[in-house]
Amino acid sequence: MAGAGAAAYVGRFAPSPTGDLHFGSLIAAVGSYLEARSRNGHWLVRIEDLDPPRTVPGAAEAQLAELRRFGFQWDGEVLYQNTRSAAYAQALAQLEEAGWLFPCACTRSELRPGEPYAGTCRQGLPPGREGRALRVRVHNTPVTFDDRLQGPQTETLSQSCGDFVVRRADGLTAYQLAVVVDDAFQGVTDVVRGSDLLDSTARQRYLQSLLGLPKTGYLHLPLVKDPEGRKLGKRYASDPLSQQEPRGALGAALRFLGHAPPPHKTLAQRWQWAQKNWRSERIPRQGGDIVIAH
Ligand SMILES: [Zn+2]
Repeated sequence: MAGAGAAAYVGRFAPSPTGDLHFGSLIAAVGSYLEARSRNGHWLVRIEDLDPPRTVPGAAEAQLAELRRFGFQWDGEVLYQNTRSAAYAQALAQLEEAGWLFPCACTRSELRPGEPYAGTCRQGLPPGREGRALRVRVHNTPVTFDDRLQGPQTETLSQSCGDFVVRRADGLTAYQLAVVVDDAFQGVTDVVRGSDLLDSTARQRYLQSLLGLPKTGYLHLPLVKDPEGRKLGKRYASDPLSQQEPRGALGAALRFLGHAPPPHKTLAQRWQWAQKNWRSERIPRQGGDIVIAH
């Protein structure tokens, strides 16, 4: 950690190394970075290489190089999820011991996409079937939290997703569990990320409570959409950050997040301005246009 002692605010940026960073990644990085820096907090980077088949060789290094080129400075060492198997196993053992887990034999074709888990294996595996994934039992009590931008949220997991997977059929830890275990391990106090992850948050809070982990705060940023509402549809938005000039792209990200930077000659000046003038109240809930600022 940079600086002495624990920071009151610890934020993070956690890309998956499945390809290039793009404008949507920049929004999440800028939002989480400026939230942390404007509160004298720490900002950590975690590489979510949980899923080896999806991990692109060299992508993590390229993403970190891109962050450096854009002028981001993170505190401490980068955490790689592929080093965290023992911690995930320990969390699963804790849930297992407390009776929260059950093996599920259902194959993809037996599950109905978009519908909550039907509870087929909840009371035990059907005769002659073997467990594939591990699921965590959910209940009917709503999970509630206040998102600092999107407002109060309520989700009843039994209705939205049902008992959900914490260890996948291929043996890998499910994303929801890994995120919760790692946020606690890294001392993250506040999660700032894209609104596409808003519907993961109730499951993550639920796991935090089952595991007795500190609850994190949340701020879900607007998503980058084109006029038809497709995520990352515009060419600029979906081009790799490596093809973009940092000062202009940072300006565009700031505008998208409700901050209008004056013209700046250098990237460093733009960052100085951003850290001084950042106000999370200015962030719009929904995404608007992307305007390049020089
Ligand atoms: Zn099942």
